[in-house]
Amino acid sequence: MSTYYSSPSPLTAGLRCACPRCGRGKLFHGYLTVNERCSVCNLNLARQDSGDGPAVFLIFILGFLVVPVALWVSMTVDWPLWLHAIVWSIVVLGLALGMLRPAKAYVVALQYRHRRNELEDPDE
Ligand SMILES: [Zn+2]
Repeated sequence: MSTYYSSPSPLTAGLRCACPRCGRGKLFHGYLTVNERCSVCNLNLARQDSGDGPAVFLIFILGFLVVPVALWVSMTVDWPLWLHAIVWSIVVLGLALGMLRPAKAYVVALQYRHRRNELEDPDE
């Protein structure tokens, strides 16, 4: 039996941390564990393995964004080094932990969009 779903864009599914096919089911249980199946459309999510891709993207994106800001702050404000270490550690850790779930959901949605035929069950 096949049901038509209007799939959300990968960015929308990523920001909502939602199923890449229906956009309504939750993608995760816990912090980063992908559900076995979507509770709404029954998509087999266990096949969606994003590996280390989201973490690698975040390393590059956060490095690109945070390092110039940290350098600018260090040139304009006279903070001691220990304060820089504490502030930038908290900033990077907070951004990484806050962005990891949407980044993983985005990569899963991109995989679903571009490799749908490989990842869907043939009898769905
Ligand atoms: Zn779904």
